[in-house]
Amino acid sequence: MTDKEKTPVKMKDVLAKAEEKNCPVQQSLVFIEEFLSEPMCGRCFPCSMGSYEARIRIRKLVDGSGSDEDISAIREIAGTMAVASMCKKGKDTAKFLLENIDSDDFKNHLSGICENRECVEYIKYVIIPEKCTMCGVCQDVCRDNAILGEKIKPFMSGYAPFEIVQKRCTKCGECIKVCPEEAIECVSISVEKEEVKA
Ligand code: SF4
Ligand code: SF4
Ligand code: SF4
Repeated sequence: MTDKEKTPVKMKDVLAKAEEKNCPVQQSLVFIEEFLSEPMCGRCFPCSMGSYEARIRIRKLVDGSGSDEDISAIREIAGTMAVASMCKKGKDTAKFLLENIDSDDFKNHLSGICENRECVEYIKYVIIPEKCTMCGVCQDVCRDNAILGEKIKPFMSGYAPFEIVQKRCTKCGECIKVCPEEAIECVSISVEKEEVKA
């Protein structure tokens, strides 16, 4: 297909793509990235510069390095875009950001919590030893060689529980899908820390 034949990306496509995510921070990131990839034409400064700056700030929240200042900056950028953008596309982008930014999820990301388990910096996969039958199915699907353990054999004892090596795990989630015992869980790193303290 040539560029001439390519179907232009519409704002409804941008919204649909964002709504594939559950986490409002991820939704905001996808929205702004999709908007920047095509519908944003660059004709006016508040929308073009604002969108690029908002993307930088939202990425920080997703990768775990965000701060209160980033949230305030995104709110300010979106506020300016809402009034000063030359067309509805910029205003709609601002509206989407403003609707999401006051959700608890934005604040939670500053404490390392992604309730929807979509921001991988805040999650990890763990094997619950009490549920694990040491069948090894998870190990077979893990392409990153991140699961340690020896498959259980009849009439033998002395097995250590299966374990996920966090340094190797790329958080692809394939092991969860195949475990027949539901012995693998995706947990929030900070929630786990609080549980340990308690
Ligand atoms: S508000 Fe409209 S005209 Fe201005 S840069 Fe954004 S898309 Fe282009
Ligand atoms: S697939 Fe589940 S039950 Fe089997 S070894 Fe892995 S965690 Fe344990
Ligand atoms: S999430 Fe992916 S990389 Fe991590 S242990 Fe499971 S299969 Fe391996």
